[in-house]
Formats: sequence, C-alpha cells, structure tokens
Amino acid sequence: MLTIKNLHAEVDGKKILKGLNLEIKAGEMHAIMGPNGAGKSSLASVLAGRENYTVTEGEVIFDGKNLLDMSPEDRAREGLFLAFQYPVEIPGVSNLNFLKTALNEIRTYHNLPAMEAKEFLKLTKEKQQMMDFNANLMNRSLNEGFSGGEKKRNEVFQMAMLDPKFAILDETDSGLDIDALRIVANGVNKLRGADKAFMVITHYQRLLDYIVPDFVHVLADGVIVKTGNKDLALELEEKGYDWLKEDVHQKE
Ligand code: ADP
Ligand code: MG
Ligand code: MG
Repeated sequence: MLTIKNLHAEVDGKKILKGLNLEIKAGEMHAIMGPNGAGKSSLASVLAGRENYTVTEGEVIFDGKNLLDMSPEDRAREGLFLAFQYPVEIPGVSNLNFLKTALNEIRTYHNLPAMEAKEFLKLTKEKQQMMDFNANLMNRSLNEGFSGGEKKRNEVFQMAMLDPKFAILDETDSGLDIDALRIVANGVNKLRGADKAFMVITHYQRLLDYIVPDFVHVLADGVIVKTGNKDLALELEEKGYDWLKEDVHQKE
C-alpha cells in the first residue's frame, strides 16, 4: 500500500526527516510514537503534500504510484486521508456540504457520477450511526465552535464518509476524555478492513488499548529508531524514549 524509502524532508529550510523508511501493507494498523518535535506531524504533512514541506531525497510509493509527484488534491482522490492534529474551522461552509463536495470530487476523479441527494443522505445517516456521531454537528459550519473532542469526532466521521484506502490520524486522541476516546477508537476499528491501512500517530499508549496496532514504530529525530508490536508501546509507557536515544547515539 505505502512504501517510504530513505525519505528526507525540510520545512522552511530546517531538516526534519532524515532518511525515514517504512512499509505499510493493506490491512495493517501502524502506530507512530516518539518524543515531541521528532517529526511525526511533519511526516503526515509530507505524505499529504502540505506546502512548505520539501522532500529533498527518497521516494514514497502509494498503491503503485509515485505519491510525491501528485498534487495534495490528487493524493486525497487516490484515497489518502489525513486527520489533522488541529482540525481547521471553516465558517460558512456546512459540514455536510463540505463532505458532499469532497465525495463528488473523488467520484468524478474515478469516473463515477455525482451522488444523488437521496443516496448521499442515506450514506450520511448510515455513517453517522456507525460512528455514533452527533447529528446536530453535521449541519453546522465545519468545525466552527466545535469543542476539541467534537472536532476529533468530526474527523473520524469525515473519514467514514470518504472511506479512504489509507488514513493518517495525527494525535486524534489528544484532548479527548475517555468516553470520546472510546468512540473515536471504535469508529476507527469499524473502518479497519483487508483493503485499508492506517497510520495512527499518538503520544499515549492508552489509545492503543482500543486501537490495537500490528506494528509500533518510534520516530526520533527524523528517523524510525525502533519497530515492534503492541508491547513496544507498553515498554515506552514505562521507560520513556531516552533509552532509545542512547541506542541511536551509539550507532552514530
Ligand atoms: P512532532 O509531531 O513529532 O511533535 P513536528 O513534526 O511537529 O514534530 O516537528 C518536527 C520539528 O520540525 C520540530 O523541531 C518543529 O519545531 C519543526 N517544525 C515544524 N514545523 C515547522 C515550521 N513551519 N518551520 C520550522 N520548523 C518547523
Ligand atoms: Mg507534537
Ligand atoms: Mg505532532
């Protein structure tokens, strides 16, 4: 699904990713952990094609295609979804209109006709129930005045509506209380499937009690310094990240 080879990237002239390698297969759930400032959000931004993030070396293949050659819009149309650490507010654009436009953009790209209003409403209702999402939030302006938790839940609702092949969740758990965390995690779990893959960026092991990852990677100083299974997250919770930094320095 996604192959990242020797990825180097800069933001505003600052080197952030320094030769990152990662292979994600369909059906897999990958957790990315690591200290603050390690480059986790930058990795998500580079994959999504955000401006100001410049790839200086390496390659990223998404579903057989060169991801780095594509515009951010085409990456989304090809099935990449990024749930932001800080979702943006767009006053004056209703949540549902936004989703309808996005869905139809994707459909047009794949030579499918625009969705009929009736079909769209049916899909909306189905996903709203599936994600246990507050129906009132669907008709409000996108994220405007949403609480932190509501924004995160909205990101997961959007993800369910758009049904991406590969989704990146950047600290979707931060700022969630335990009930909201469970709802978000359940939502993600319902979307898991053999043809999809996820990259979940998180600071806390807690989320991984609910979204059980196939792999846990530690990102530190722009590279992946350790990979393990879900037990690695428990070990990190106990020991922190410093013991890994020592590992890296010994290799240098
Ligand atoms: P993480 O998500 O792992 O906490 P980030 O990817 O947000 O880390 O940041 C990685 C590093 O890049 C940090 O040192 C951060 O200060 C720096 N950085 C992020 N965005 C910018 C920017 N726009 N300009 C300069 N430095 C940036
Ligand atoms: Mg951070
Ligand atoms: Mg971050």
